[in-house]
Amino acid sequence: MTEETYGGTPRDKIPWDPKIDYQKCTTCGKCVDFCHMKTFTIEEKNGKKITIINPNRCVVFCRGCEDICPAGAITHPSEEETEKIIEQLKKEA
Ligand code: SF4
Ligand code: SF4
Repeated sequence: MTEETYGGTPRDKIPWDPKIDYQKCTTCGKCVDFCHMKTFTIEEKNGKKITIINPNRCVVFCRGCEDICPAGAITHPSEEETEKIIEQLKKEA
């Protein structure tokens, strides 16, 4: 199995993934339909809830779902901080 990388850095070490504010999320499902990486799913166990099942599949520096979420419920980390972390990881490699 090949390890997924971003610019040579192991993807699972890069902290770039969406966070959902469940106080704002209306469970409309648009993020699930929008993200081709299948980062999200809708769970229906105890009422519908959007769950991030594949955080490492989120494309580094993509903010597509954040932009289309009608409730403004999705956020990602800061680009600057993430770039610093990637640079540091490259130095350590
Ligand atoms: S698009 Fe936004 S409001 Fe709709 S399910 Fe996703 S996180 Fe919730
Ligand atoms: S930012 Fe892009 S790749 Fe990441 S979960 Fe959202 S739509 Fe998918």
